[in-house]
Amino acid sequence: MSKALLKGLALTLKTFFRRPVTVQYPDEKRPVPERFRGRPVLLAREDGTPRCVACGLCEKICPSLCIAVAAETGPDGIRALAGYTLDLNRCAFCGLCVEACPVEAIAMGSEYELAAYGREPLVYTQERLLAAPGRGAAPERMGEGKP
Ligand code: SF4
Ligand code: SF4
Repeated sequence: MSKALLKGLALTLKTFFRRPVTVQYPDEKRPVPERFRGRPVLLAREDGTPRCVACGLCEKICPSLCIAVAAETGPDGIRALAGYTLDLNRCAFCGLCVEACPVEAIAMGSEYELAAYGREPLVYTQERLLAAPGRGAAPERMGEGKP
């Protein structure tokens, strides 16, 4: 038996008893790193209302022009959010919207299974942006750990 063959068999034997590293996706999922930038999510106050004050800064800074913020004057005369849309078809996951927000109302979520059969399902309304699975309860800024 050649030396190379013996070497190969020894390696097979060595790895045979190691614990497998294969993850049985999609039944098993690995936790995403803390700084992972999944799709943007809107954050809510304790009463469930969006923290967003409709200032429009995220809309202005977004390089992909994928955010649309609609504002209205609330009953108390204060500017309030009337609607928020994020077109994920165009999103570059850059995180600039998160950086720009003065009230930490938007964060990069942990969701990464974003495939869809058309463009329409990837246009996220305010309701869908608020009902984010995974991360989304606390602000996540670039360069910082999860608070
Ligand atoms: S992550 Fe970047 S591209 Fe996506 S919505 Fe925010 S600013 Fe726009
Ligand atoms: S920057 Fe923040 S508060 Fe202003 S519109 Fe965007 S999410 Fe809302």
